[in-house]
Amino acid sequence: MNTTVITILYMVACIFFIRGIKLLGKTDTARKGNLYSSIGMLLAVITVLTEKEVVGSWNTTNILANGYLYIAVALVLGTLIGTIWAKKVQMTGMPELVALFNGFGGLSSLLVALAQYIIHPKGDYFTSASLGLTIAIGAIAFTGSIVAWGKLSGIFRKNIAIPGKNAVNGLFCLIGLAGIALYTVSGDINCEADLALYGIIAATAIFLILGITMVIGIGGGDMPVIISFLNALSGLAAAFAGFAINNTVLVVSGCLVGASGLILTLIMCKAMNRTLFHLLFKSLSAGHKKSGGVAKEPKAVSIEDAYLILEAAKNVVIVPGYGMAVAQAQHAVKELCDKLEANGAEVNFAIHPVAGRMPGHMNVLLAEANVPYEQLKTSDELNPQMSNTDVAIVIGANDVVNPDAMNDESSPLYGMPIVNAFEAKTVFVLKRGKGTGFSGVENPLFTNDNTLMLYGDAKATVSALVSEFSEE
Ligand code: NDP
Repeated sequence: MNTTVITILYMVACIFFIRGIKLLGKTDTARKGNLYSSIGMLLAVITVLTEKEVVGSWNTTNILANGYLYIAVALVLGTLIGTIWAKKVQMTGMPELVALFNGFGGLSSLLVALAQYIIHPKGDYFTSASLGLTIAIGAIAFTGSIVAWGKLSGIFRKNIAIPGKNAVNGLFCLIGLAGIALYTVSGDINCEADLALYGIIAATAIFLILGITMVIGIGGGDMPVIISFLNALSGLAAAFAGFAINNTVLVVSGCLVGASGLILTLIMCKAMNRTLFHLLFKSLSAGHKKSGGVAKEPKAVSIEDAYLILEAAKNVVIVPGYGMAVAQAQHAVKELCDKLEANGAEVNFAIHPVAGRMPGHMNVLLAEANVPYEQLKTSDELNPQMSNTDVAIVIGANDVVNPDAMNDESSPLYGMPIVNAFEAKTVFVLKRGKGTGFSGVENPLFTNDNTLMLYGDAKATVSALVSEFSEE
């Protein structure tokens, strides 16, 4: 195909990506944004197939030697797996899926770089350095995301503290970069093919390990930040792969993913009161020390008694969390909100930035249940008035209301801003039992004098409260 046509098609694909990302910024246009980005990707794939020379060709007599056959099989299989997976995934499983996709993004950039090395082992300094950086960042994004996926899906829950983590990671980084430098320099000299190969092998192996050692010690409240960071890395790897194989659309799409991932990382860091430096380089604390003294038991309350307290409340704050998503209680919560308002109470929702398992998780669920946007407030907005709140209803939230994040320096949550539900006159906590939150740490809120537990599935409990209001 004519190069001008190819350039135009790439530009059209880029426009679709940029428009797609813009539309993804708002809940009501997000679906359209996904569609635009997918069209851009399809266009880019078709254009690349017409531009690049594919091994074999249609008129070959041996069909198995035809490169298009393998590409077609991969396209059909990928489309099938992607469609089924995306349709089957529960909202609560989205972060795992996102983590895996980040990993696959990193892996594909890594494979592109290795393939490019096999086809064109020598390049100029810029191309070779780009290829080396693609390997480095792609490998970290791949193994780091697999570890993040394992943590999110509960396969590796344990945070493993590597002794001298920074020194070990620093050493790995130096060896890996030395491998890239070796490849870049010897690849260009032309006669040092063996050295270039050793450089590539060392860099690939070391950065694959570095992805694991970097993420294995991160957990709890820091997971959302590291997932955004890995997302940024997968985009950056694609952008470098674009330089390595001289493909503009890959550079543009990689930069878009990299930049948006980085912006999200910084937003999450701010929300969690962390710095990226702290996240990547701070060693894990020796462990969370349990508060001493006599262990208190949480006080349970019946639905009938909880109703009586709620009926008298003039000011209610609802704090939704991951458990609300698991129970799919959002519609029942909206009904309860309506009943409370009809009873004369002012109701607000305190949305913590990392409540649930993905950024904006609670906003999406509550928007689905038609909770007005104005009622969704940030913790910063509601915390100053929390002590004047009659009842805080904590629905399946745990880490985001854990006072240890403010008071206990040994807690892995320490420093994370929380919703100050504990300051309300009465706190209802809706959960099934004694399960901890994502961070796995105990929550002293549950044994506070002003806290009353409503045990059971959140949807059933909220529906029971709604029924109490309806019967009156
Ligand atoms: P948590 O994970 O801290 O707690 C959820 C609570 O919900 C559990 O204590 C559980 O207790 C309860 N629960 C589970 N199922 C039900 C149910 N069906 N009915 C009632 N209760 C239920 O949730 P938070 O939203 O407070 O905190 C989010 C955590 O996830 C933070 O640590 C955050 O860092 C992390 N995270 C957030 C991401 C994001 O982007 N938002 C991404 C990755 C991690 P029990 O078992 O007793 O019912």
